[in-house]
Amino acid sequence: MTPQYRTITLKRGKEESLERFHPWIFSGAIAGMDKDIEEGDIVRVLTNDGTPVGTGHYQIGSIAVRMLSFTDDAIDESFFSHRLREAFRLRQALGLIRPDNDTYRLVHGEGDFLPGLVIDIYGDTAVLQAHSPGMHFARNIIADALTGIAEAGVKNVFYKSETTLPYKAQLEPVNSYITGAFHTNVATENGLKFNIDWLRGQKTGFFVDQRDNRALLQHYAHGRRVLNMFCYTGGFSVYALRGEAEMVHSVDSSAKAISLTDANVALNFGDNCTRHRAFAEDAFKYLDEMPAGAYDLIVLDPPAFAKHRSAVRNALRGYQRLNAKAIAKAASGTILFTFSCSQAINREQFRLAVFSAAAQTGRRVRILHQLTQPADHPVNIYHPEGEYLKGLVLYVE
Ligand code: SAH
Repeated sequence: MTPQYRTITLKRGKEESLERFHPWIFSGAIAGMDKDIEEGDIVRVLTNDGTPVGTGHYQIGSIAVRMLSFTDDAIDESFFSHRLREAFRLRQALGLIRPDNDTYRLVHGEGDFLPGLVIDIYGDTAVLQAHSPGMHFARNIIADALTGIAEAGVKNVFYKSETTLPYKAQLEPVNSYITGAFHTNVATENGLKFNIDWLRGQKTGFFVDQRDNRALLQHYAHGRRVLNMFCYTGGFSVYALRGEAEMVHSVDSSAKAISLTDANVALNFGDNCTRHRAFAEDAFKYLDEMPAGAYDLIVLDPPAFAKHRSAVRNALRGYQRLNAKAIAKAASGTILFTFSCSQAINREQFRLAVFSAAAQTGRRVRILHQLTQPADHPVNIYHPEGEYLKGLVLYVE
C-alpha cells in the first residue's frame, strides 16, 4: 500500500512536462500544497483536477520537486534497491566491472532516475553524495539498499555531502562512513592505480568522468611531450606515461593536487619516474611563461568557469583566453585536448570560444574528436540539462 505522503497540486496544464518525464517541477508551476510540508519530504504530485502524476522530493527554491517516480510508488528501501540494481545492471552491460576496473559511477542523478543522488564506486567503497535534502534524509536506506546488492561488492559507504547540499536547508551533514570503515583508498581504472582522497578531495575524490578521454589521450601519447594542465589527481598524466610519452609535465595551482599527482605516478611507475614532473603553479602564469613549442600534446581541463547562468559571459571569455594561450605556444603538430565541465555552457558556445581562440592565434586548427561524458554518466533523454562535459581534440599546425 502506498504511504500517505503529503500532496502538492499543480496549476492547470503544468503537468505537461511531467507527461514527457521531465524530472523537475519549478515553484511557479505549483497551485497549492499541504500546509505542513517540510523541505526534503516525499510528496505526491497531483494535477489541478486531482489526478496523481507521480512522487518526488520537495525542496525550497526554484526547483521545488525532483521527481522520483511517475507512478504512485512508495519511496522506500525496496524502491531504492530496484533503482540501484537497474543502475548496476547498466554498468555491467557497459563492461565497467572487471578485475582491472573497479572505478565507476553507479548513480548519476537524473541520468539514473534518481535526481539529487550521486554514487561513485572505488573498489569496495562507495562514495554517496546528496544534492537534495530528500536524498540526505534517505541516505541510510540508500546505503542499506546498496550493500544489499551482493554482486556490486560494496562494503563501505562513505557519505560526502558537506558541500553539495543547499546551505540554507541547514542540514549540516557530516562527511563520514554510514557503513564500514576506511581500509584502502587505492582503486583501479583501466588497469592503472589511483589513490582516491574521498575524505578531503574534490567531488567524490576523483574525476571518474574523464576515464574514456584519458584512454584516448594514452592512444596519442607515444613519444610526445605532454602538458597536463589542471591535473588534479594526475589522471591524464598517468595514462600518458603508460602510453609511452617522452615526458609529462603536470600543473595545478593546488599543492595538494601536485602531491596527489606525484603519489599516483609513483603508485604506477615507481618513485623515480624521471619522465614526469609536477608543478604547483597558476595555469595562466605557466602558459605565459613557458617557451613556445615546449609541448606537442596538451590537456586543458579547467574547473567549471560558469557555475551559474549569470557567469556564462565571463566564463566564455575565460575559455577563449586559456585556449588562445595554449594554441599560440603549441608546437607544430600538437594534439590539444580541451574541455569544459560547465553545465551552464553548451557545446556550441564552448566550440565558439575555442574557435575564437584559434582565430586569435592565426594557427591552422582542425577538430579531430568531439568528446563528452562517459556512458556511466548517462543523460536522461527527457532531461537534456544532464549533459555537462564537453571536449574537443584539436590538431594544431
Ligand atoms: N583533469 C583533472 C580534473 C581537473 S579539476 C582530472 O582528470 O582528474 C580542476 C583542477 O584545476 C583542480 O585540481 C584545481 O586545483 C585546478 N585549478 C583551479 N584553478 C587553477 C588555476 N588558475 N591554475 C591551475 N590550476 C587550477
